[in-house]
Amino acid sequence: MRLILKSKIRKFGLYLLALLILSACATVPFTERKQLILIDPQTELALGLKARQEILKKAKTCKDPQIVNMVNKVGWRIAKATGRTDLPWEFTVIEDPKTANAFCLPGGKIFVYTGILKYTQNENGLSTVLAHETAHAIARHGAERLSMVLLAQVGEGALVVALEKNSDTRSKAFLAAYGLGAQLGVILPYSRIQEYEADHLGLIFMAKAGYDPRGALLFWNRMLEKQKGSEIPEFLSDHPADEKRIETIKQLLPKALKYYHPNN
Ligand SMILES: [Zn+2]
Repeated sequence: MRLILKSKIRKFGLYLLALLILSACATVPFTERKQLILIDPQTELALGLKARQEILKKAKTCKDPQIVNMVNKVGWRIAKATGRTDLPWEFTVIEDPKTANAFCLPGGKIFVYTGILKYTQNENGLSTVLAHETAHAIARHGAERLSMVLLAQVGEGALVVALEKNSDTRSKAFLAAYGLGAQLGVILPYSRIQEYEADHLGLIFMAKAGYDPRGALLFWNRMLEKQKGSEIPEFLSDHPADEKRIETIKQLLPKALKYYHPNN
């Protein structure tokens, strides 16, 4: 009797899982890759905002108007080119010449450390980095990553919560019950697939924003050189510059160039 009940519960769990996967399937623009996202956009934005506040508590923002204006100018050109002006984009420059990094939090909260500027060198190089980071937000990579963790960690309990219709309850439950605090969205590294996808989308956004996507090759080749040196920029730990990455970018360039109209 017990066994039958157990198998019934298991079957029900599997049924819930199937239902959840069907209802939580999203598609990435341009690559058409199907992804499983268990977090609704509101929760995603809340996580991004929370994480941003945490970072700003500790970090020192850059006060140099020339740098701040340049990052915002390039960032906004790209944000507009994505067509998602509904997202709460924010481009924050952190004054830290020793840290060569940039990253994106869910919902489009992008951080640039002043240390990366010596590697981006010019507006085109910066547009390569910002378009790549913007692409992570557009493709909802943070939410996708978090969904994988949720699925792995909380199993059926999460399924029941996730299936509740009230998204507010769901958001709060996810946030509170599983301690998905601020850092999680930040510390989870993106997968290799997501990284390549961000390169792919990034090239298109760069081109649409009027930046020559061929500039991305120059930037990544510069990074490849740095990777061989003794002073390795932090950006490379999550974004390894290797021959395969550069080759993939080369192959995508004809597609990206179709979107490039330099006189816009
Ligand atoms: Zn990335």
